[in-house]
Parts: sequence; structure tokens; C-alpha cells
Amino acid sequence: MTEIPRSHPRYQSLLARELITQGVLSGITSKHGLIAQGRGEAFDYLIGEKTIDSAAHAETCACALLLLAENPVISVNGNAAALVSSGLVTLAEVLDAKLEVNLFHRTDERVELITKYLEEAGAKHVLGRTAEPLLDLDHERNRAERDGLYSADVVLVLLEDGDRCNVLTQMDKIVIAVDLNPLSRTSQTAHVSIVDNIVRVIPNMIEIAREMKGMDDEKLWEFVDSFDNGIALADAIEEIKVNLTGVQYELLSGTDFDPKKGHEISDEQKRALEEERIRKKREVLMKGSDLILE
Ligand code: ATP
Ligand code: MG
Repeated sequence: MTEIPRSHPRYQSLLARELITQGVLSGITSKHGLIAQGRGEAFDYLIGEKTIDSAAHAETCACALLLLAENPVISVNGNAAALVSSGLVTLAEVLDAKLEVNLFHRTDERVELITKYLEEAGAKHVLGRTAEPLLDLDHERNRAERDGLYSADVVLVLLEDGDRCNVLTQMDKIVIAVDLNPLSRTSQTAHVSIVDNIVRVIPNMIEIAREMKGMDDEKLWEFVDSFDNGIALADAIEEIKVNLTGVQYELLSGTDFDPKKGHEISDEQKRALEEERIRKKREVLMKGSDLILE
């Protein structure tokens, strides 16, 4: 394993890459998992590599639903196993939920490897080895254990495929998805979409679930009722917009413009910024046309 210095500004991201790469080398993660991680990283960059408020709210709602469930199941794939195996074991324990391995690029060998990996991390009972093709899908993610995913009332899916997410929601299950892309089919179809990095989500949820554990059902339902997935997704998209606009302003004005404090600048300053923006844009356009002419 490559030694990554803690002082590196991109330590967390490099560590995740290392874990996923090790996962591929040991056969836990599929090669395609590298691409999924890359797409996730890009969105993480755009949301500022932090748990945004709406994601924290989604994590709270998710914990409440999983604690209220009769048969909660956490569906584990190769990326999740490589990144957060011991966290998943702890979360399942705190929530009294089952862990079930479910893979898009499924082989018996990979299911076995992931199961063993989770067991080494402390899991007592991992489902998935004897999963049957019970879901209405024409790929390997159609497999589910009868007393696991198939009969679950609340499912936590990690880095899910949009197809299966859709099928699960049509089976009268409550589906909670972790996906950094607020535009993906998964985020758009899940009942609760957590737009956050799985490496932050799992520790957050362990902490929240521990706090919530003694609460009565009525209190837990209050957390669920106060959550609106449409608003959470819109907020994640807004966060991306605000981050991008902030960078644009900085580039165009040469100042440290904070878009979140936009209302604090005077109209005159706004006009000056806008003029500067237009001037810079003209400059860019002129340079562009010069290049075309050349
Ligand atoms: P969909 O089928 O839902 O439209 P997709 O095809 O875009 O999704 P997949 O490749 O099926 O995406 O799954 C990867 C998804 O997981 C991506 O949306 C990506 O943003 C997300 N993802 C990858 N790594 C992480 C991570 N560490 N934490 C959270 N989400 C992640
Ligand atoms: Mg997909």
C-alpha cells in the first residue's frame, strides 16, 4: 500500500483511492468500481467535500427510518466494502440491521471475498451467498435473500444502480440511497437520497443512530416527517451552483467574493462587479476569436 502523508491537502481523497485500488487488487471491488469512485469524487469536489446541511438532515431521517423498520437491510457492494467495511459492521449493529452483499458484476467468488472481509471486520452474519434472482431485473443485481433484501421494509443502498433502486421502490420498500450525484437516477428515485460521500455518511450515521436509539417511535417519526427529499436534492444542486458561482466571481472580480453573503455588498459594488465580469468576458471572447482567426 502506498504511504500517504497525513499532511497532504488531498489526504482523504488519496486514501479513498488507495482503498479502492487495494479492493480491486484483492478482488473485492470490480474494475468498474474505479470509474464509479471517480464520478463520485467529481461530485464531491463540487459540493465542497463536506457534509452539507441537507445531507445531514437526510442522514438523520435515514437513521430514524432504519430504527423504525421491522426488517432493515443494508445492501453492500464492492466499493462500499473497500471503503467502509468496519463502519458498516458497526452501523448494522447499532441499527440492528442485516448486511447483504449485492453486486452488479457478481461472481460467487466476489460475494465470498466480500462476506469474509465483512466477517473479518466483525460481522456475525452476512447475507448474499444464497441470494435468488427474485427482483424484476435482467442483470445480476436481481438477486435477493428471502429473509433479507426481498422482505426488507427499509433498505439502505450504497452507490446503487438506478435500475435496482427503481425496482426496490416499486416493491413497497422505503429506499435510502447514498449517492454523491444529485442528478443520478438513483438519487432521483430513492425516497431518501443522501448526497454525501460514503466515507463521511457511515461515521455520521453511527453517531446519529447511537443518539437516537433510546427514542420512542413518535419522536423518530418527527424526524422522518420533517424531511423532504425534493428539497434536499434541490439544496444539493443549489450548493453546487453557489460553489461554482463563487469561483466564477473570484475569477472575474479578483476579489474574495462570498456568494453566500451576496446581499451584503452594495448595489454600486454589484454594478462594478458586473461591469468587470462583462469586461473580462469580452477579453476572453476576443482572445477566443483571435485564436480562431489564427
Ligand atoms: P444511476 O444508474 O443511478 O444513474 P450512475 O450510472 O451514474 O447511476 P453508477 O456508476 O451506477 O452511477 O454508480 C456510481 C454512483 O455512486 C455515482 O452516481 C457516484 O456519484 C456515486 N459514488 C461513487 N463513489 C461514491 C462515494 N464514495 N460516496 C458516495 N457516492 C459515491
Ligand atoms: Mg448506473
